Amino acid sequence: MDNVERVADDLYLVKYVHREGTFVGITVVLGQNSIGLVDTGFERTIVDSLFPFLQEMGRSPDEITFIVNTHRDGDHIQGNHVLKEKTKAKIAIHELDADAVGDVDVRLNDGDRVELGDRTFEVVHAPGHTPGNICLYQPEETLLIVGDTLCGDRVNLIRMGKELYINSIKRLLDLDVNLLIQSHPRKPIEKGVLVGEEPKQMMLASISLAEKAD
Ligand SMILES: [Zn+2]
Repeated sequence: MDNVERVADDLYLVKYVHREGTFVGITVVLGQNSIGLVDTGFERTIVDSLFPFLQEMGRSPDEITFIVNTHRDGDHIQGNHVLKEKTKAKIAIHELDADAVGDVDVRLNDGDRVELGDRTFEVVHAPGHTPGNICLYQPEETLLIVGDTLCGDRVNLIRMGKELYINSIKRLLDLDVNLLIQSHPRKPIEKGVLVGEEPKQMMLASISLAEKAD
């Protein structure tokens, strides 16, 4: 499927093109006995992109057990209720964004651990885009899933004041990251999956673009 990027045998970014030239991505972790998701896109994303992908992989939506929303924006949570209807999945989001979302099972905090598929991630609170914006970090894989944490040139999406935003990214710069998954292609690195030096370049660019913004 040309809207799917394979990151590892059990890790995929399913991209939903809602407007020409951009996409919103769902990260799918295919465990041996369960499936975890990071973000759920729009309602259509589930039916048009996620379910066909699972079918192609020989997997079933019934296997989805846990969903983490990186933050409260519509393009990351609108698929939640479709999955609530069709699966028994539990939904987790940072406590500062939880009230805006509604049907939440787990309220997350910085330092919490979450299990998605056969992987365990650490929750890294990174406010700036929204109050409860989080990243998911897997140190042994040097993997960081950032959602919309790095706004790149879209400095208008920094809603919490740029100092808080910049400090959040500086914390990410201290992590060992060689593989980064973001939800949208954002300048200067317009890709969903960033590798090698690209994660650090994207973090530094996001800081400098924010510093130059009004
Ligand atoms: Zn978004």
